[in-house]
Amino acid sequence: MSARPSKRRIAIIGAGFTGSVLAAHLMRHADEPTSLHLIERTPSLGAGLAYSTPNAAHLLNVRAYNMSAYPDDPRHFLRWLWAQDGGTQDGGAGAVPPSGHAFVSRARYGAYIQDVLREAVAAAPPHVSLTVSQAEAVDIASDARGTRLRLGNGTSLSVDTAVLCIGNFAPSPPPVPAPEVYASSRYVASPWDWPALSTIASDTPVLILGTGLTMVDTVLSLEDKGHRGPIIALSRRGLLPQTHEETRPFKSFIHPQVMPRTVLDVMIALKADVRRARETGFDWRSAFDALRPYHHLIWSHLAPEERRRFLRHVRPYWEVHRHRIAPEVAARIAALRANGRLTIRAGRLQTLTPVPNGVEATVRARGAEGTVWTRTVGAIVNATGTECDFSRIAHPLVKALLTRGLARPDPLRLGLDVTMDGALIGEDGQVSDRLFALGPISRPPFWEMTAVPELRSQCAQAARHIARLRRSAYPPAEPSPLHARAMP
Ligand SMILES: Cc1cc2nc3c(=O)[nH]c(=O)nc-3n(C[C@H](O)[C@H](O)[C@H](O)COP(=O)(O)OP(=O)(O)OC[C@H]3O[C@@H](n4cnc5c(N)ncnc54)[C@H](O)[C@@H]3O)c2cc1C
Repeated sequence: MSARPSKRRIAIIGAGFTGSVLAAHLMRHADEPTSLHLIERTPSLGAGLAYSTPNAAHLLNVRAYNMSAYPDDPRHFLRWLWAQDGGTQDGGAGAVPPSGHAFVSRARYGAYIQDVLREAVAAAPPHVSLTVSQAEAVDIASDARGTRLRLGNGTSLSVDTAVLCIGNFAPSPPPVPAPEVYASSRYVASPWDWPALSTIASDTPVLILGTGLTMVDTVLSLEDKGHRGPIIALSRRGLLPQTHEETRPFKSFIHPQVMPRTVLDVMIALKADVRRARETGFDWRSAFDALRPYHHLIWSHLAPEERRRFLRHVRPYWEVHRHRIAPEVAARIAALRANGRLTIRAGRLQTLTPVPNGVEATVRARGAEGTVWTRTVGAIVNATGTECDFSRIAHPLVKALLTRGLARPDPLRLGLDVTMDGALIGEDGQVSDRLFALGPISRPPFWEMTAVPELRSQCAQAARHIARLRRSAYPPAEPSPLHARAMP
């Protein structure tokens, strides 16, 4: 009989913000001998999709004062910024004042998270170790005895607990049959594929599908590489993200003991807050932000049909007011619109047809019954938002989870079906005590589980919960040839 391993083994798959910050918290909270395995497919730790952009004009869409990795140390990021260089060297983003009211570059934030991880390793007690593997997790199996992971480099790993922190997925193609276009180099399937964006000819007309935050990033990327052709951004309603302005603390009408039960009640409460805010000299943003501590509670009180109603009718308006852009970014977008280089259109894409000099797009305009317009463009960028419907995600790890019945998409297709602790719910409805999912993929029970202020609290709570779990009786892995490296 094989001996039980002496240490608790926890695998964290994905080392973007969520995986890295979870690892940092687990190093603080693990009170029994623990070996943490951080598995990341890219060479960089801490950055993930959001913070690996090479463009310094891609700014955080949350002010620096609210971007600490630690909920119990809100000024941690600010201290890090000031320790670097007085907070002044930020690719043009300017100085970070004592208030922290500034939007610094996302790339810089990625460097911060890497330091968070590095500091956590340095401060870890001797009974906790962290091993980093640069590899892609491609398969997972789990039963009463434990969990096995297979990595793309052919190695495998047996652990007691596995936590999926695999982040955001690129959008699926639009619901318009155009296989020839999607297979061509004129179609950029992922708006975060910087090399593909850089191949777009600088004078060609571009159609961006989507008018949200990712469209804004795409326009800035095209601009900064010298693009001079016209850009059209299209979405059903043509709504642009609102601009940040300084907010002041404001007390919401909402009371934890009297939660609204319908979307209509939420909207009535929010509108009343906005009206009251205006009457007392506050901006609508203060009222909107005052609701933030209650988002999860409000969502948990809405029945499935009400949640569906919210997604169908309110979501687009909610997104543009909730996730706002930095004033300096908004100013660039406004200037491009004013000089006619960027046009925002509301409508529904009807067809995409390959033509000799590009792709002809046909769009039915919103509101104007029957009005259809056509443009020939040299490139199409899909910036319609991250794919959250896990039944449509083709990644092998996701497929393995679903086909083995270890996970299931939630009914509203917002992510994976998980408990409030992030425990995966299997196809049969069983809650796992060894498989967890955190970050945006765990959105279903919360709705807002996208930005750092929510994610950092989730990581802190999950670390405490996971640290308390008992070890499984899984036999130790045969000596694994895992290509691992210690933290730099
Ligand atoms: C473009 C963009 C900009 C954003 N800007 C902000 C912002 O300014 N402020 C804010 O608060 N929030 C922002 N967000 C929200 C964002 O969701 C979170 O801030 C955060 O980055 C999510 O972290 P994550 O670790 O869950 O995902 P990610 O950061 O995407 O990390 C997931 C990691 O998992 C790895 N991975 C995936 N699958 C595997 C696998 N099978 N094997 C091994 N590794 C794997 C990936 O390589 C990646 O490094 C932004 C999101 C995006 C997409």
